[in-house]
Amino acid sequence: MRLGILGHPVGHSLSPAMHRAALAALGIAGSYDLLDTPPEALGDRIAEVRKGFRGVNVTVPLKEAVLPLLDEVRPEARAIGAVNTVVNEGGRLIGHNTDAPGFLRSIEEAGVRGRRAFLLGAGGAARAVAYALKGAGWEVWVHNRTRARAEALAAAFGLEVAPFEAAREADLVVNATAVGLDDPASTPIPAAFLPRKGYAADLVYRPVKTRFLREAEAAGLAVVDGLGMLLWQGALAFRIWTGRPAPIEAMRRGLEDAFGRGA
Ligand code: NAP
Repeated sequence: MRLGILGHPVGHSLSPAMHRAALAALGIAGSYDLLDTPPEALGDRIAEVRKGFRGVNVTVPLKEAVLPLLDEVRPEARAIGAVNTVVNEGGRLIGHNTDAPGFLRSIEEAGVRGRRAFLLGAGGAARAVAYALKGAGWEVWVHNRTRARAEALAAAFGLEVAPFEAAREADLVVNATAVGLDDPASTPIPAAFLPRKGYAADLVYRPVKTRFLREAEAAGLAVVDGLGMLLWQGALAFRIWTGRPAPIEAMRRGLEDAFGRGA
């Protein structure tokens, strides 16, 4: 079974470690390749996938651009406007979004409960989180550096645009911005606005414990790091490709080993 990931750059992806561990654990002969794909080469790459791959993941900056190149896009991926998983059904390429259910599984696994979520960010990842939380019955307030993007997201999914102050009333605060990734000293919300109970979830997983999560913990919140979402979106993709339940613990270990190696 030939699998892989399309992105640019894609060299630091942890997905190969997870999926190779899953293939090995189930005794499935296969491969999972890093397929570095600059946006201008996406059309050719998709033709290659159609000919020789069972499925691929799609990551930055191709998750939106890939939609028009597919034969079918599942409704959740269409609503989110992004595809992170493609399956090849006899030459027909079908796009899915497993980021949204992957996020939901990660917070469920961590025992997150509540009604009101404060969402930081309005990019592709925030759209997936907004879709997931709304579908699970949460009331979602959104805040973004560029207000116009928060307004567009709010209009698309029936959310409220809110100032930092509203976070104090939330049961769950989610960082779906890229803040903390390239600048570990930064945080997307000043600690003074964090609630004093509830949960904080960060999509950023490098470092695993971001400043946002450290400050949330200090404020008394239970925290959920971004590795859970990475794991579950991968597990759901693996199931789509193989039709078999993903070996979660093997995938988790693959991920942890890759981290141990400084991936
Ligand atoms: P994106 O579409 O480029 O959106 C980036 C978001 O971050 C925008 O809301 C942007 O605000 C905000 N932002 C960037 N720099 C900022 C700054 N200095 N101050 C305030 N806001 C800033 O990216 P994305 O695809 O949504 O990804 C966002 C993050 O989620 C990334 O770190 C990515 O690695 C992570 N992610 C994790 C998983 C996982 O499995 N754990 C899955 C998907 C994504 P503006 O609109 O103002 O530019």
